[in-house]
Amino acid sequence: MIDIPKKHRDLFEYIGKTAESIGQKVYVVGGYVRDYYLHKPAEQSTDIDFVTVGSGIRLAEELAKNLPNTKISVFKQFGTAQVKYRKLDLEFVGARKESYRRESRKPIVEDGSLEDDQLRRDLTINALSWCLNPGSFGVLHDPFGGIKDLHAEVIRTPIDPEKTFDDDPLRMMRAVRFATQLNFRIDVKTVAAIKKMAPRLSIISRERVLDELNKIVMATTPSAGFALLLETDLLKEFFPEMVNLLGVDEKNGQRHKDNFWHTLEVLDNVAEVSDNLWLRWAAIMHDIAKPPTKRFDKNAGWTFHGHDALGAKWVPKIFRRLTLPLDDRMKYVQKLVRLHLRPIALVSDEVSDSAIRRLIYEAGDEIEDLMILCRADITSKNEWKVKKFQNNFDRVEKRIKEVEEKDKIRNWKNPISGQDIMEVLETGPGPIIGTVKDKIKDAIFDGDIENDYTAAYNYLLSIKDQYIDHS
Ligand code: ATP
Ligand code: MG
Repeated sequence: MIDIPKKHRDLFEYIGKTAESIGQKVYVVGGYVRDYYLHKPAEQSTDIDFVTVGSGIRLAEELAKNLPNTKISVFKQFGTAQVKYRKLDLEFVGARKESYRRESRKPIVEDGSLEDDQLRRDLTINALSWCLNPGSFGVLHDPFGGIKDLHAEVIRTPIDPEKTFDDDPLRMMRAVRFATQLNFRIDVKTVAAIKKMAPRLSIISRERVLDELNKIVMATTPSAGFALLLETDLLKEFFPEMVNLLGVDEKNGQRHKDNFWHTLEVLDNVAEVSDNLWLRWAAIMHDIAKPPTKRFDKNAGWTFHGHDALGAKWVPKIFRRLTLPLDDRMKYVQKLVRLHLRPIALVSDEVSDSAIRRLIYEAGDEIEDLMILCRADITSKNEWKVKKFQNNFDRVEKRIKEVEEKDKIRNWKNPISGQDIMEVLETGPGPIIGTVKDKIKDAIFDGDIENDYTAAYNYLLSIKDQYIDHS
């Protein structure tokens, strides 16, 4: 018998009694039960899943009748109902038996027993349930050794993994996701089955794959998840560019670092200091275009010239394929990928204020995140080197602060408008306006003129003759 968390005991008792009154058995199942054994505080569990032998909709309707301030949504075609009560999301489903056709993950569903229902769950640790009916309140049902697996910290399917994954290939992503979030290993047979079934992921909608992927990205140690995605061959199903980062070449005794494992280190470094999903994506993508830009030069050794620009160019197509958003969030990732080498070029003391101003201008409000990415990008095993590079970035950051305080470049706008330029040059819209605007920007950033309207306007007057068409 389980000591059901106080927080939900009254509610669960009430649900048990209501089910009993309509002659149904009801169980709390899935994440809630798993998280109880993982000692997650009950306050954090706001989505609670229930399975009942009989109609889930009928039970939910019965509950909603007698509980104050509930909102019920019924999904007839799935035979499920959701009850919103206080801050809780209560999901009710009738126990079911499912069989699958190979070409779709939409199952043929029939009513079933509790055991039938537990059989079709994804993982043993997600197939635990507690009965809530009076008389058996708090009795645990664990037909597949889920508790044992929780203690052993292992991810395993309730039945033959090939069958589980064949029925619903999304479960392969879920297995990796839970292993990553919980820091568990995946059972060897389960890994082997994923490897075999990985191509079946193609029948799953890309949005659902992405949901799981983003949960992996947001885990405490996301590298563990990507290592598993690689090991299980799932990664190449949706992100082959990342798999291509793997491997080391050697020439004349010189080796470059393995960019796959380097990328994962950078990702973990970012994850340690930031929960920003998009900054984490920037870490994943920052070196993505290294393979096609790789060259060996007798003097310089291995180089990847232009991988920053090419990587930024790849971001939209990768975002589209993964169904990541194509809005400002994509632009943000693109900007960080494009600029990720720039602060390195500013390390030397001889660097002028003007170079610093240009970076602040181009990075804008993303300058701090860019510096987080650059620091995360230092993955040398040599502690002395790491220290040296971090010190270099300390200096760059200090100068960025000084220059920004002095010149307010971050959200800089050209004091001269296109309209001003057209009037002075006595011309209409055209590419020349942009050229002249850049010229004024350069003069300001180089410190040749003050950053204000009068100075810029006088400067425009002084250069206008070069641009007026005298022909
Ligand atoms: P969390 O919500 O914390 O990510 P959870 O275990 O509650 O974890 P949900 O996606 O909310 O995960 O699913 C609830 C339960 O439904 C799971 O515990 C599992 O028993 C079952 N389940 C969910 N998706 C699948 C699936 N694709 N195949 C089989 N069972 C599933
Ligand atoms: Mg849940």
